[in-house]
Amino acid sequence: MQAEIDAFSKRARLWLLPVAAIRPTMLRRNRTVTDTPIKKVWIEEGCISCKLCEDIAPQVFEVPDDEDCVIKPDAATHFGPLSEDIDQAADDCPVEVIQVERDGD
Ligand code: SF4
Repeated sequence: MQAEIDAFSKRARLWLLPVAAIRPTMLRRNRTVTDTPIKKVWIEEGCISCKLCEDIAPQVFEVPDDEDCVIKPDAATHFGPLSEDIDQAADDCPVEVIQVERDGD
């Protein structure tokens, strides 16, 4: 009986591995997957200054100590090369205040 339980546990672990490999952000319904160029990025009210976006794309986001996140003045020059990072920051922001507008929106 123990051998059957061990075999079942091993099979169960093999089935669960791919599930555990899925990043939580991939499951979020607002995940953006597009090549359309980014036109504008802005921060709505409610930033909690966690600095996550700054860690992901420091060329675009800046979070001064104890202040809300701001978009850097020259951020637009990085929209093209950093579009995936910007999308990730918007998706991962814990309070979902990062807004992204794309061409054609
Ligand atoms: S990830 Fe969101 S809450 Fe955190 S600093 Fe950036 S905008 Fe603010």
